[in-house]
Amino acid sequence: MFGRKKSRTTVPALRRVRTTATLRPLRHRLDPSAVEEIPFLADDGLRIGLTRVDTGEADRPAVLLLHGHTASADMFLAPEIRNLVDVLVDNGYEPWLLDWRGSCRLPYNETGRRYTYDDVALYDIPAAVSHIRGRIGDRPLFAVAHCIGSIALAMSMTAGLVPDLAGVVSQGVFLTPKLAGRMSLRMSVAGELMKSRFDHIPVDFRKVGLRSKYTPLFALASRGASCPDPTCQILHNSAWGMGVSLFVHENLSAETHDRLADLLGPAPMWIMPHLRRMALANSVVRWHDTDHRYRALPVNALDAADRIDTRVLLMAGTENGLWGDSQKVCHEVLARRQPLLDVAYVEIPGYGHLDTFVGRGAALDVFGHIVDFLDKQDASR
Ligand SMILES: [Zn+2]
Repeated sequence: MFGRKKSRTTVPALRRVRTTATLRPLRHRLDPSAVEEIPFLADDGLRIGLTRVDTGEADRPAVLLLHGHTASADMFLAPEIRNLVDVLVDNGYEPWLLDWRGSCRLPYNETGRRYTYDDVALYDIPAAVSHIRGRIGDRPLFAVAHCIGSIALAMSMTAGLVPDLAGVVSQGVFLTPKLAGRMSLRMSVAGELMKSRFDHIPVDFRKVGLRSKYTPLFALASRGASCPDPTCQILHNSAWGMGVSLFVHENLSAETHDRLADLLGPAPMWIMPHLRRMALANSVVRWHDTDHRYRALPVNALDAADRIDTRVLLMAGTENGLWGDSQKVCHEVLARRQPLLDVAYVEIPGYGHLDTFVGRGAALDVFGHIVDFLDKQDASR
């Protein structure tokens, strides 16, 4: 029955995809002259985004911020809260924000050449690190990474492609992706079904319309939901149809809640096999087995963890509905297998996944841990 639906001549009437690689404008409340958007290409020539926040001081340590998949640099700049960029600037750091190819400010989740997380680890993150180093000279460079941004960074690090970072903060998941129970089952069953019917899962019900092939997905996501907003339901209640929660609802401000469809974009279904392979291995693994272009990446990043040459802070909300206790597990596994690595672990009580960065109280409850970690590394250099 799915063969019929995949007919090449049928174009879904309401499928709106973006076709240019121009970045959607950032949303922030910084002085526009302090925001330097750099025309930037990944190492395979793909147009991606890199932004520097100019603090007017040329001697500050730099911090590269890596968003999660389908999010964007906007998640660190949310104007409605005291955000991570505010806190870094106030504490003496120079923020740099990468929009890697999975950013919703870019079109690639909906159109263009498909990619895997291998491409992010090989082409996007090392290019950004190398560009930033070219600009900052021998100033320290830290990285703070969320979700898939952190998985990709783990792959770049264990490939030796981003040596000598001054310290890394990883949120949600790092080297041991372990999907929350309900989700891993859905990934294997529903994921296959959805993959054959949709090539991406939209989040903005207003764009999709009332009657479309996505309607059953939104209907499924609304089951048992306490919030009437369909975009919130598909994210908070369902994580793009995968049945887990991306954030603790009451941790978001009303303004953030109203613009969830800006903060998180459509999720491509064709990335699922790579994610599933990682979830089955409970490890960050390379997708490309035989393509020699990817041989710089380790087959299994956890097995190559001895190549990590910097201190790492693993961070997770106690209510993370997507990755469960992956960070706790990662901390235990690394302590056992790589006792020489300096890896710390901190739990944020009452927080889920995305709200650790966009929650209205994140500056009070979360960012202090990040700044303390950066300050410590910086003082020890
Ligand atoms: Zn809601």
